[in-house]
Amino acid sequence: MRIAVVFFLLLMLGVILMVGSRNVPPNSAPTLKIVTSFSILKDFVQNISKGNENVQIASIVPLESDPHTYQPTPKDSVALANADLIFINGLDFEKGIEKMITSSGFAGKVCDASDGITPRTEPLDPHLWHDVKNAKVYVANIVRFLCEHDPAHKKLYEANKGKLLEQLDLLDRWIREQFARVPFEQRLVVTTHDAFWYFGKAYGIQFLAPVGISTETEASAQKVATLIDLIKEKGVKAVFVENLANPRLLQQIAEETGVMVQGTLYADSLSASAGPAATYEAMMRHNVSTIRQALEKTVQCKP
Ligand SMILES: [Zn+2]
Repeated sequence: MRIAVVFFLLLMLGVILMVGSRNVPPNSAPTLKIVTSFSILKDFVQNISKGNENVQIASIVPLESDPHTYQPTPKDSVALANADLIFINGLDFEKGIEKMITSSGFAGKVCDASDGITPRTEPLDPHLWHDVKNAKVYVANIVRFLCEHDPAHKKLYEANKGKLLEQLDLLDRWIREQFARVPFEQRLVVTTHDAFWYFGKAYGIQFLAPVGISTETEASAQKVATLIDLIKEKGVKAVFVENLANPRLLQQIAEETGVMVQGTLYADSLSASAGPAATYEAMMRHNVSTIRQALEKTVQCKP
Protein backbone atom coordinates (compact mmCIF):
# COMPACT_ATOMS: atom_id res chain seq x y z
CA MET A 1 0.00 0.00 0.00
CA ARG A 2 2.77 2.42 1.05
CA ILE A 3 4.71 1.59 -2.14
CA ALA A 4 1.61 2.40 -4.19
CA VAL A 5 1.25 5.83 -2.51
CA VAL A 6 4.94 6.69 -3.05
CA PHE A 7 4.67 5.57 -6.67
CA PHE A 8 1.55 7.73 -7.16
CA LEU A 9 3.25 10.79 -5.60
CA LEU A 10 6.35 10.32 -7.79
CA LEU A 11 4.11 10.02 -10.85
CA MET A 12 2.26 13.25 -9.96
CA LEU A 13 5.57 15.04 -9.36
CA GLY A 14 6.74 13.90 -12.80
CA VAL A 15 3.56 15.21 -14.45
CA ILE A 16 3.89 18.58 -12.65
CA LEU A 17 7.54 18.94 -13.71
CA MET A 18 6.74 17.99 -17.32
CA VAL A 19 3.83 20.44 -17.61
CA GLY A 20 5.80 23.13 -15.84
CA SER A 21 8.86 22.72 -18.01
CA ARG A 22 6.77 22.83 -21.18
CA ASN A 23 4.90 26.04 -20.34
CA VAL A 24 7.56 28.10 -18.66
CA PRO A 25 11.08 27.40 -19.87
CA PRO A 26 13.63 28.58 -17.30
CA ASN A 27 14.70 32.24 -17.56
CA SER A 28 12.54 32.98 -20.60
CA ALA A 29 10.56 36.20 -21.01
CA PRO A 30 6.91 35.90 -22.04
CA THR A 31 6.32 36.03 -25.80
CA LEU A 32 5.09 39.35 -27.18
CA LYS A 33 2.17 38.51 -29.46
CA ILE A 34 1.74 40.95 -32.34
CA VAL A 35 -0.98 41.05 -34.98
CA THR A 36 -0.85 43.26 -38.07
CA SER A 37 -3.86 43.95 -40.24
CA PHE A 38 -2.12 43.11 -43.55
CA SER A 39 1.10 41.68 -44.99
CA ILE A 40 3.02 44.91 -45.71
CA LEU A 41 2.79 45.98 -42.05
CA LYS A 42 3.87 42.47 -41.02
CA ASP A 43 7.00 42.85 -43.14
CA PHE A 44 7.87 46.17 -41.44
CA VAL A 45 7.31 44.72 -37.94
CA GLN A 46 9.36 41.62 -38.80
CA ASN A 47 12.30 43.73 -39.97
CA ILE A 48 12.16 45.96 -36.89
CA SER A 49 11.99 43.05 -34.43
CA LYS A 50 14.64 40.93 -36.18
CA GLY A 51 16.85 39.40 -33.45
CA ASN A 52 14.12 39.34 -30.79
CA GLU A 53 13.34 35.66 -30.16
CA ASN A 54 10.38 36.43 -27.89
CA VAL A 55 8.07 37.84 -30.50
CA GLN A 56 5.31 36.22 -32.54
CA ILE A 57 3.91 38.16 -35.54
CA ALA A 58 0.81 37.25 -37.54
CA SER A 59 -1.16 39.08 -40.23
CA ILE A 60 -4.98 39.00 -40.18
CA VAL A 61 -5.33 39.32 -43.98
CA PRO A 62 -3.28 36.48 -45.53
CA LEU A 63 -0.84 36.91 -48.43
CA GLU A 64 -2.50 37.45 -51.82
CA SER A 65 -5.83 38.40 -50.16
CA ASP A 66 -7.54 41.76 -50.55
CA PRO A 67 -7.65 43.87 -47.34
CA HIS A 68 -10.47 46.04 -48.81
CA THR A 69 -12.86 43.08 -48.94
CA TYR A 70 -11.42 40.48 -46.52
CA GLN A 71 -13.94 38.84 -44.19
CA PRO A 72 -12.28 37.96 -40.85
CA THR A 73 -12.75 34.38 -39.62
CA PRO A 74 -13.42 33.19 -36.03
CA LYS A 75 -9.74 32.09 -35.99
CA ASP A 76 -8.70 35.71 -36.67
CA SER A 77 -10.78 36.87 -33.68
CA VAL A 78 -9.08 34.32 -31.42
CA ALA A 79 -5.62 35.41 -32.65
CA LEU A 80 -6.56 39.03 -31.99
CA ALA A 81 -8.02 38.27 -28.54
CA ASN A 82 -4.70 36.65 -27.55
CA ALA A 83 -2.51 39.43 -28.96
CA ASP A 84 -0.69 42.12 -26.97
CA LEU A 85 -0.36 44.64 -29.82
CA ILE A 86 -2.04 45.28 -33.16
CA PHE A 87 -0.73 47.46 -36.01
CA ILE A 88 -3.22 48.86 -38.51
CA ASN A 89 -3.04 51.19 -41.51
CA GLY A 90 -6.27 53.07 -40.79
CA LEU A 91 -7.94 55.58 -43.18
CA ASP A 92 -10.73 53.09 -43.92
CA PHE A 93 -8.33 50.61 -45.52
CA GLU A 94 -9.21 47.60 -43.37
CA LYS A 95 -12.99 47.37 -43.44
CA GLY A 96 -14.51 46.56 -40.06
CA ILE A 97 -11.19 46.37 -38.18
CA GLU A 98 -12.38 48.64 -35.34
CA LYS A 99 -15.49 46.49 -34.90
CA MET A 100 -13.36 43.35 -34.89
CA ILE A 101 -10.98 44.81 -32.30
CA THR A 102 -13.92 45.56 -29.99
CA SER A 103 -15.87 42.33 -30.54
CA SER A 104 -12.86 39.98 -30.22
CA GLY A 105 -12.24 41.07 -26.62
CA PHE A 106 -8.76 42.34 -27.56
CA ALA A 107 -7.26 43.97 -24.45
CA GLY A 108 -3.91 45.06 -25.90
CA LYS A 109 -2.76 48.29 -27.54
CA VAL A 110 -3.56 49.57 -31.04
CA CYS A 111 -0.96 51.37 -33.19
CA ASP A 112 -2.08 53.35 -36.22
CA ALA A 113 1.09 52.90 -38.29
CA SER A 114 0.25 55.70 -40.76
CA ASP A 115 -0.14 58.28 -37.99
CA GLY A 116 1.34 61.68 -38.87
CA ILE A 117 1.21 61.30 -42.67
CA THR A 118 -1.14 63.76 -44.38
CA PRO A 119 -3.34 61.68 -46.67
CA ARG A 120 -5.05 62.60 -49.91
CA THR A 121 -8.61 63.33 -48.82
CA GLU A 122 -10.57 63.76 -52.08
CA PRO A 123 -11.12 60.84 -52.13
CA LEU A 124 -9.68 59.54 -48.83
CA ASP A 125 -6.78 57.34 -49.95
CA PRO A 126 -5.15 54.81 -47.58
CA HIS A 127 -2.41 53.50 -49.97
CA LEU A 128 0.32 55.64 -48.37
CA TRP A 129 3.06 52.97 -48.43
CA HIS A 130 3.64 53.31 -52.18
CA ASP A 131 5.75 56.42 -51.49
CA VAL A 132 8.94 55.23 -49.77
CA LYS A 133 9.11 58.49 -47.75
CA ASN A 134 5.80 57.48 -46.15
CA ALA A 135 7.14 53.97 -45.49
CA LYS A 136 9.85 55.63 -43.38
CA VAL A 137 7.12 57.23 -41.23
CA TYR A 138 5.45 53.81 -40.78
CA VAL A 139 8.80 52.40 -39.60
CA ALA A 140 9.35 55.28 -37.15
CA ASN A 141 5.82 54.88 -35.73
CA ILE A 142 6.20 51.10 -35.33
CA VAL A 143 9.60 51.49 -33.61
CA ARG A 144 8.25 54.13 -31.19
CA PHE A 145 5.29 51.92 -30.30
CA LEU A 146 7.41 48.77 -29.82
CA CYS A 147 9.93 50.65 -27.63
CA GLU A 148 7.05 51.95 -25.49
CA HIS A 149 5.44 48.54 -24.98
CA ASP A 150 8.56 46.33 -24.99
CA PRO A 151 11.28 48.56 -23.48
CA ALA A 152 13.54 45.55 -22.80
CA HIS A 153 14.31 45.41 -26.56
CA LYS A 154 14.54 49.17 -27.15
CA LYS A 155 18.20 49.04 -28.23
CA LEU A 156 17.52 46.28 -30.76
CA TYR A 157 14.50 48.09 -32.24
CA GLU A 158 16.44 51.35 -32.53
CA ALA A 159 19.40 49.60 -34.20
CA ASN A 160 17.10 47.84 -36.69
CA LYS A 161 15.35 51.15 -37.38
CA GLY A 162 18.69 52.73 -38.36
CA LYS A 163 19.43 49.93 -40.85
CA LEU A 164 15.92 49.91 -42.26
CA LEU A 165 15.74 53.69 -42.81
CA GLU A 166 19.08 53.54 -44.64
CA GLN A 167 17.75 50.75 -46.91
CA LEU A 168 14.60 52.77 -47.59
CA ASP A 169 16.65 55.86 -48.52
CA LEU A 170 18.63 53.74 -51.01
CA LEU A 171 15.38 52.31 -52.40
CA ASP A 172 13.86 55.77 -52.83
CA ARG A 173 16.96 57.01 -54.65
CA TRP A 174 17.01 53.92 -56.88
CA ILE A 175 13.34 54.41 -57.87
CA ARG A 176 13.97 58.05 -58.85
CA GLU A 177 16.81 56.96 -61.18
CA GLN A 178 14.69 54.31 -62.93
CA PHE A 179 12.34 56.61 -64.82
CA ALA A 180 14.95 59.17 -65.87
CA ARG A 181 14.92 58.08 -69.53
CA VAL A 182 11.13 58.23 -69.90
CA PRO A 183 9.84 61.70 -70.88
CA PHE A 184 7.59 63.05 -68.13
CA GLU A 185 4.53 63.55 -70.37
CA GLN A 186 4.71 59.92 -71.53
CA ARG A 187 4.74 58.37 -68.07
CA LEU A 188 1.11 57.23 -68.31
CA VAL A 189 -0.01 53.91 -66.90
CA VAL A 190 -3.34 52.10 -66.37
CA THR A 191 -3.94 49.78 -63.37
CA THR A 192 -7.05 48.10 -61.96
CA HIS A 193 -7.81 50.24 -58.89
CA ASP A 194 -6.76 53.68 -57.71
CA ALA A 195 -3.96 52.44 -55.42
CA PHE A 196 -0.93 54.21 -56.88
CA TRP A 197 -1.67 57.93 -56.42
CA TYR A 198 1.12 58.35 -53.79
CA PHE A 199 3.54 56.40 -56.01
CA GLY A 200 2.62 58.61 -58.97
CA LYS A 201 3.01 61.83 -56.98
CA ALA A 202 6.37 60.81 -55.53
CA TYR A 203 7.95 59.40 -58.69
CA GLY A 204 6.26 61.35 -61.47
CA ILE A 205 3.98 58.73 -63.04
CA GLN A 206 0.33 59.35 -63.94
CA PHE A 207 -1.89 56.38 -63.05
CA LEU A 208 -5.40 55.87 -64.45
CA ALA A 209 -7.77 53.19 -63.14
CA PRO A 210 -11.32 52.03 -63.87
CA VAL A 211 -11.93 51.00 -60.22
CA GLY A 212 -11.80 53.56 -57.37
CA ILE A 213 -9.84 53.66 -54.10
CA SER A 214 -11.51 50.52 -52.74
CA THR A 215 -12.02 47.29 -54.67
CA GLU A 216 -15.39 46.89 -52.89
CA THR A 217 -17.19 48.68 -55.71
CA GLU A 218 -17.01 47.63 -59.34
CA ALA A 219 -16.20 49.97 -62.22
CA SER A 220 -19.29 51.43 -63.90
CA ALA A 221 -19.74 51.04 -67.66
CA GLN A 222 -19.59 54.84 -67.89
CA LYS A 223 -16.22 54.96 -66.09
CA VAL A 224 -14.78 52.20 -68.31
CA ALA A 225 -15.94 54.03 -71.46
CA THR A 226 -14.42 57.33 -70.25
CA LEU A 227 -11.15 55.56 -69.45
CA ILE A 228 -11.02 53.94 -72.90
CA ASP A 229 -11.47 57.38 -74.50
CA LEU A 230 -8.74 58.82 -72.27
CA ILE A 231 -6.28 56.02 -73.12
CA LYS A 232 -6.81 56.69 -76.85
CA GLU A 233 -6.66 60.47 -76.46
CA LYS A 234 -3.50 60.52 -74.32
CA GLY A 235 -1.78 57.69 -76.19
CA VAL A 236 -1.32 55.50 -73.09
CA LYS A 237 0.87 52.50 -73.98
CA ALA A 238 1.03 50.46 -70.77
CA VAL A 239 -1.82 48.60 -69.05
CA PHE A 240 -1.18 46.47 -65.94
CA VAL A 241 -3.25 43.95 -64.04
CA GLU A 242 -3.00 43.67 -60.24
CA ASN A 243 -2.17 40.58 -58.21
CA LEU A 244 -5.44 40.69 -56.24
CA ALA A 245 -7.84 41.73 -58.98
CA ASN A 246 -9.64 39.75 -61.66
CA PRO A 247 -7.66 40.56 -64.84
CA ARG A 248 -10.75 40.37 -67.11
CA LEU A 249 -11.68 44.08 -66.98
CA LEU A 250 -8.14 45.22 -67.80
CA GLN A 251 -7.85 42.64 -70.58
CA GLN A 252 -11.08 44.00 -72.06
CA ILE A 253 -9.76 47.58 -71.85
CA ALA A 254 -6.47 46.47 -73.45
CA GLU A 255 -8.35 44.77 -76.29
CA GLU A 256 -10.58 47.78 -76.97
CA THR A 257 -7.67 50.23 -77.02
CA GLY A 258 -5.10 48.02 -78.72
CA VAL A 259 -2.72 48.47 -75.77
CA MET A 260 -0.96 45.36 -74.44
CA VAL A 261 -1.20 44.15 -70.82
CA GLN A 262 2.39 44.58 -69.69
CA GLY A 263 2.50 42.65 -66.43
CA THR A 264 1.24 42.43 -62.86
CA LEU A 265 1.64 45.09 -60.16
CA TYR A 266 1.37 44.47 -56.41
CA ALA A 267 -0.70 47.10 -54.61
CA ASP A 268 -2.22 45.93 -51.32
CA SER A 269 -0.59 42.59 -50.49
CA LEU A 270 2.81 40.98 -50.71
CA SER A 271 3.30 37.76 -52.69
CA ALA A 272 4.14 34.35 -51.21
CA SER A 273 7.85 33.86 -50.47
CA ALA A 274 8.53 32.32 -53.89
CA GLY A 275 6.82 35.25 -55.70
CA PRO A 276 8.31 38.53 -56.95
CA ALA A 277 7.02 40.70 -54.07
CA ALA A 278 7.71 38.74 -50.90
CA THR A 279 8.87 41.83 -48.95
CA TYR A 280 8.01 45.55 -49.09
CA GLU A 281 11.32 46.31 -50.81
CA ALA A 282 10.89 43.47 -53.33
CA MET A 283 7.34 44.68 -54.07
CA MET A 284 8.52 48.24 -54.76
CA ARG A 285 11.43 47.04 -56.94
CA HIS A 286 9.14 44.67 -58.86
CA ASN A 287 6.50 47.38 -59.52
CA VAL A 288 9.11 49.95 -60.58
CA SER A 289 11.00 47.54 -62.86
CA THR A 290 7.76 46.28 -64.44
CA ILE A 291 6.56 49.83 -65.20
CA ARG A 292 9.98 51.03 -66.40
CA GLN A 293 10.46 48.09 -68.79
CA ALA A 294 6.96 48.58 -70.24
CA LEU A 295 7.46 52.32 -70.76
CA GLU A 296 10.94 51.92 -72.24
CA LYS A 297 9.58 49.33 -74.67
CA THR A 298 6.55 51.33 -75.79
CA VAL A 299 7.36 55.04 -75.73
CA GLN A 300 10.12 57.14 -77.28
CA CYS A 301 12.77 57.33 -74.52
CA LYS A 302 15.76 59.60 -74.09
CA PRO A 303 19.03 57.89 -75.10
ZN1 LIG B 1 -6.27 49.17 -52.51
